[in-house]
Amino acid sequence: MNLSQVRKMMLFTAEKMVESEPTLTSLDQIVGDGDHGIGMKRGFAAIIVLLQDEKFQPTNIGDFFIQIGTKLMTSMGGASGAIFGTLFRAGGKSITGVTEFDSNALSKLLNEGWQAVYQRGNAKPGDKTMVDALAASATTASVLTTLKLNDALPKIAQSAMEGAEKTKQMIAIFGRAKNLGERAIGHMDPGSVSMAYILKFMNEYIQT
Ligand code: ADP
Ligand code: MG
Ligand code: MG
Repeated sequence: MNLSQVRKMMLFTAEKMVESEPTLTSLDQIVGDGDHGIGMKRGFAAIIVLLQDEKFQPTNIGDFFIQIGTKLMTSMGGASGAIFGTLFRAGGKSITGVTEFDSNALSKLLNEGWQAVYQRGNAKPGDKTMVDALAASATTASVLTTLKLNDALPKIAQSAMEGAEKTKQMIAIFGRAKNLGERAIGHMDPGSVSMAYILKFMNEYIQT
């Protein structure tokens, strides 16, 4: 996948994330403060504007994702602005200069992104955050680097969704959900669903 195809994939993904606002809002109304859908919608609406601007001409795929991350960070606010911004900025940095987006590049992006998110927010798998979906997808991606992207991505996206599903059984350590204690059990973490959705929509795009 070249830069122009990646750009189209992320435009599609951003449009689908904006449409997912009600789902993400309902989840954060249960375990958080109800603003996650609005935050993600604001961030991805800003991405749509960026990607439709002909003056936006990143030099390579790494640079493209760095700028996506910067835009999310500056437009979203909330815990997740910093977290998703960090994911794409650090992930983009790890593939600096790359002109072909393949499963190896995606694996680097997810794994380096995961490390950076951990450095930033200290959440480990099991803490009921987006890290549960991110870590699951990064781990799957790292063993599928020899597959073609359209064979690897369905499995990577599925792992992220399974990671998000697992947060149902977890007690939160971070954010408002931690005040709920055991009452958070049975409900998915909204950020983990966002993470799973991003990969799900990227996959939907490349399968068409
Ligand atoms: P806020 O918590 O500021 O209202 P959002 O509602 O937009 O922000 O985002 C909440 C999501 O952020 C959570 O569902 C969780 O997945 C993620 N999150 C919160 N704290 C952390 C952290 N330390 N590391 C990773 N993700 C986190
Ligand atoms: Mg919130
Ligand atoms: Mg908030």
